Amino acid sequence: MTEAFHCRVCGGTHVEAFLDLGDQPHCNRLIRPERAAEREPHYPLRVGFCHDCTLVQIDYTVPKEQMFSDYPYVSGTTRTLVEHFRETAERLRRGYGLGPDSLVVDIGSNDGTWLAGYEAGTVRTLGVEPASNVAAIANGRGIRTLNRFFNEETAEAILAADGPASLVTAAGVFFHLEELHSVVRGIRRLLAPDGTFVVQAIYLGGMIENLAFDQVYHEHLCYYTLRSLEALFARHGLEVVDVDLVPVHGGSLEVHVAHRGHRAASPRVAAFRAREAERGYGELATYRAFADRVWALRDALLVLLEDYAAKGRSVFAYGAPAKGATLLNSFGIGPRLVRCAVEKNPMKVGAAIPGVRIPILDEAAAGKPDAYLMLAWNFLDEFLAKEAAYLRAGGEFVVPVPALRVVTAADIPDAA
Ligand code: ZN
Repeated sequence: MTEAFHCRVCGGTHVEAFLDLGDQPHCNRLIRPERAAEREPHYPLRVGFCHDCTLVQIDYTVPKEQMFSDYPYVSGTTRTLVEHFRETAERLRRGYGLGPDSLVVDIGSNDGTWLAGYEAGTVRTLGVEPASNVAAIANGRGIRTLNRFFNEETAEAILAADGPASLVTAAGVFFHLEELHSVVRGIRRLLAPDGTFVVQAIYLGGMIENLAFDQVYHEHLCYYTLRSLEALFARHGLEVVDVDLVPVHGGSLEVHVAHRGHRAASPRVAAFRAREAERGYGELATYRAFADRVWALRDALLVLLEDYAAKGRSVFAYGAPAKGATLLNSFGIGPRLVRCAVEKNPMKVGAAIPGVRIPILDEAAAGKPDAYLMLAWNFLDEFLAKEAAYLRAGGEFVVPVPALRVVTAADIPDAA
């Protein structure tokens, strides 16, 4: 890493790179036809390990204004996520005994999918969302949403207008945030004395076990374990009182945080900590071995795709998620091997995947290829059900993560 780089959590200077994915464009900045002739800006995408606090992080920050002002990802478009957030909202409301006067604030609230999971009138909700187009969608559907970045100033403004929060939530976006320490100070300020902050984020342990290196992109500045999250909250007078894994995005960490000394931690916290130590998540060697597996996957996937090409068999990408841009750009897979990506999200159709410039076509209009490359592998079960007829007609899914495999009709649960 560059000499000047300071760990995003502890400020130390002993951050050592273990996975260099090269210079890559911002993965969510899709290329519109009118910009096709320009080469978009590329930024280093390199992952390192902090020897002082064990945080895994990327060492280059794309300015947030470039990433979040116009953001194509709308969580409500994925059925799996809508159900996940409804279940989580209900569990938290009951678990913490929230009532109609309780304030729930969601940071990075997107189109309001999580807050919409609370039945009307059961709690007071407020979203905070920096992308103006997405915040407008949320307000349009009646989910009260502030269009701004969450930080200490935003926390003060909410306190003044709505009072302290019984529950603050953040899903994923918390880990995109450039002003990490200001955000955590804001959360501490906003939380009622007996309030809880619940954060769901991609779990580094799951990334390691699932070889999910494609979760690395410029928006994800940090990749947390319980241990590195505890290091973060400890700096701000907060502590983790509960922890669990939830089955979303291929395995996410859910951590419950309270004011320090206010509440006894669940025995799950100590058990989780011990399991992480056993698995070597606090050691650089674990991450070096992970990087070796990433490059072995690249070699195997290129052999497979070249074989399809040699046989004149077409491959389309199924969906154009951000993680797909990481995989394609890291492995140098362009339109020669993957002709196009198909999408149903109208905000993406007609554009191209940045860097590799694979065109994104409307799913219904594109026709069917011999095989789909499954970039959104975390929704595989949903796609298996949706594309059963395609698979039964001889279609194939190439699934790169967690292990490279070709899925056929024989893999449909009820095909036998
Ligand atoms: Zn550190």
